[in-house]
Amino acid sequence: MQAQTCDTSLDKVDYSLLSPAEQEKILRLQQDILTAVARGGDPVEIVNEVCKLEEHLLPNSVASVMLMDAESKHLNVFAAPNVPAAGIEQLNGLVPGPGAGSCGNVLYRREPVFVGNTLTDPRWQDLRHLAQNFNICACWSMPIYSGGQDKIIGTFALSSFENRMPSPFHRKLLEIGASIVGIVLERSKALEHLRIFETALEGSEEGFMMTDANQRIILVNPAFTRHTGYSAEETLGKKPAFLASGQHDTEFYRSMWESLDNLGHWHGEIYNRRKNGEVFPEWLSISAVKDKHDKLTHYIGIFSDISDQKTAEAKIQFLSTHDALTGLTNRQQFRDRVDFALSLNEHSHTPLALLSIDVDHFKLLNESLGHYTGDAVLHELANRLQSCVPDTSQLSRPGGDEFLMALTDVSDTNQLTRTLMQILEKTAQPINIGGQSLNLSCSIGVAIFPDDGKDFETLLKNADAAMYHAKDAGRNTYRFFTQHMNDRVNEHMRVAHSMPAALENNEFVLHYQPQFDLRSGKLIGAEALIRWNDPREGLVPPGRFIPIAEQSGFILKLGEWVLQEACQQAVKWQKAGLPPMLMAVNLSALQFRRGDIAELVARVLKQSGLMPELLELEITESVLMHDSEFMLEQIQCLKKIGVTLAIDDFGTGYSSLAYLKKFKVDRLKIDQSFVRDMTTDPDDAAIVSAVIQMAHALNLRTIAEGVENLELLQLLRDYQCQEAQGFYFTKPLPAEVFFANYRQPNHTAG
Ligand code: C2E
Ligand code: MG
Ligand code: MG
Repeated sequence: MQAQTCDTSLDKVDYSLLSPAEQEKILRLQQDILTAVARGGDPVEIVNEVCKLEEHLLPNSVASVMLMDAESKHLNVFAAPNVPAAGIEQLNGLVPGPGAGSCGNVLYRREPVFVGNTLTDPRWQDLRHLAQNFNICACWSMPIYSGGQDKIIGTFALSSFENRMPSPFHRKLLEIGASIVGIVLERSKALEHLRIFETALEGSEEGFMMTDANQRIILVNPAFTRHTGYSAEETLGKKPAFLASGQHDTEFYRSMWESLDNLGHWHGEIYNRRKNGEVFPEWLSISAVKDKHDKLTHYIGIFSDISDQKTAEAKIQFLSTHDALTGLTNRQQFRDRVDFALSLNEHSHTPLALLSIDVDHFKLLNESLGHYTGDAVLHELANRLQSCVPDTSQLSRPGGDEFLMALTDVSDTNQLTRTLMQILEKTAQPINIGGQSLNLSCSIGVAIFPDDGKDFETLLKNADAAMYHAKDAGRNTYRFFTQHMNDRVNEHMRVAHSMPAALENNEFVLHYQPQFDLRSGKLIGAEALIRWNDPREGLVPPGRFIPIAEQSGFILKLGEWVLQEACQQAVKWQKAGLPPMLMAVNLSALQFRRGDIAELVARVLKQSGLMPELLELEITESVLMHDSEFMLEQIQCLKKIGVTLAIDDFGTGYSSLAYLKKFKVDRLKIDQSFVRDMTTDPDDAAIVSAVIQMAHALNLRTIAEGVENLELLQLLRDYQCQEAQGFYFTKPLPAEVFFANYRQPNHTAG
């Protein structure tokens, strides 16, 4: 029993205890085993191979591997290539315990167990029949560990058909067998995990991407391709930044990396770009993977495409702030916008109008034609109202047949009136629904910030009150909350409506203001200025009707009349003995915009017989600025006729020297606002002086308008202004008065 004397300590066997021949055998064994492992394949096959190699080195023995069932804690045979099936059957289900043989004791004692004589050793007490049946005399068993020395998952045993204890060489065989089998099983488990992992990734709805430590992508799943449009080949090796949408700033990425570096993970909403260019929102979760030395090895990113969710959210958001029928903002949303506009207007003191618009007799329509028609009508009205304002946020349908409109800047009453008229006109046009033509109208109430209220609620209450006044007044009209505004707008409407008849009735007259040369004091021209001789009101100044005529388009007719009248008058005066002089006529931008101004002028000159060089057309700077190519064409035609051109109210617009040259202007009329304050405001004086010098340099004549006193006149002379007109000389005069005053030849201003 030589073997029994050998070292049975449980420490690992030192190679120095082995003879050179034994060491050689061990190395060969390891190489053979590694080759088997490297060939890969089924773990049972590999372990069988290991058993056979071991048996080869211990003649008269069989090797076996038993693994513990995780649930029952019983041992079952995993591999035992040379144990008969009957033996395996009897071994299976072995319950670890003090008498459960070498393998049962390994689990029981948690240490290697070497039994030299199975028939006498108490550790084999329960398995003696097995030892006898299969002639097992000795049995040495080693624990197989999983992941370190903590967890024993099974045993590697060499059973011998003779009584013996293991030599250091034998123990080395056992150690190698147990450890290699442990590794093989571990690896197969890992492979299994990887397989499961891969299967999970394949079928996953979520996009998956794995990068190495340098952020180079090394793995993506099919969902990644589905979401981004990029195939694995197009992706691998790239950095995830190639998906960036450009929608996030550097701060966003900085905080993402900070979280990854410090916490090891980051999650959040991010916008990336698909291959087709589309930007899409995703919910992304990134983890930094580290090895056991805390060294970063990988990043794993998992994301879900949340476009649909976002669309749904946006839809919910839209529905919560809008009216489902018309798509207009609801009351709350509208109120928020108005509040915001009010806060802005409060600083700038800009008036804002809140309109309460109610469809007339809508209830009747709804009841007689049904709700379907009612809805269709409201939908159409919403579209028509929308076309009256530039911005969708200005209109709301708080409910029923009621609409609210906000006009954020109504400093221009004319503009406001026009919008009101537009609303009435558009809603009064027949609506066609299901082959049926419906005629509707609406009543509008208007409240103005700040006069009629400083907050939304007050403005709304007052707009509603005004709307009821409009209903009382017979519907299809508007009313302002305050009488003052009603008067102003009514006046606008009255003027607009009565001008055509006034023209027919010869109620318009021209007055003429003389213009003088400042050096000689000679009368050199007259500016024709229109007035309305209203039978009820008396003489109405042009400021009260010209802007309205410009808005309604009536200025075209009126302007033509002015031109005819002024030219005829000039010829009449000449014939009556006044010296030839310029007749200056004011033109509106609209007269230019129509594109036939040159034809009109030529015709009028011909009809009247006035020499073209005696007609001067006054235009404002804005005419030149607006669509300058088109205007240039018009002006070139006029210049061809031979008329002269003056820029009226010069200094109030933004025309440049280049424009003046380009348009071949003859005269600049320095605006009266500069002239008036010249003696008190050094800035104005400087402007006038500069305009005059500039005009000299460009070979343009200058005329100062609005000269009211001698002091101004002297100053203008000092500045070398050539011509002037103004109350100092005289107010605009009726033709006969003008004639009477200036009939003496060589009349001078004195
Ligand atoms: P405008 O062409 O700049 O005419 C000069 C205005 O200044 C005239 O006012 C004139 O009466 C006034 N004025 C003249 N001298 C003095 C003065 O010393 N002090 C003051 N404070 N004012 C003076 P008016 O006649 O009320 O005309 C106002 C504006 O109406 C004109 O300004 C012109 O732009 C427009 N307008 C007048 N007639 C016509 C016309 O026939 N067609 C067009 N399109 N516009 C016209
Ligand atoms: Mg003028
Ligand atoms: Mg002027």
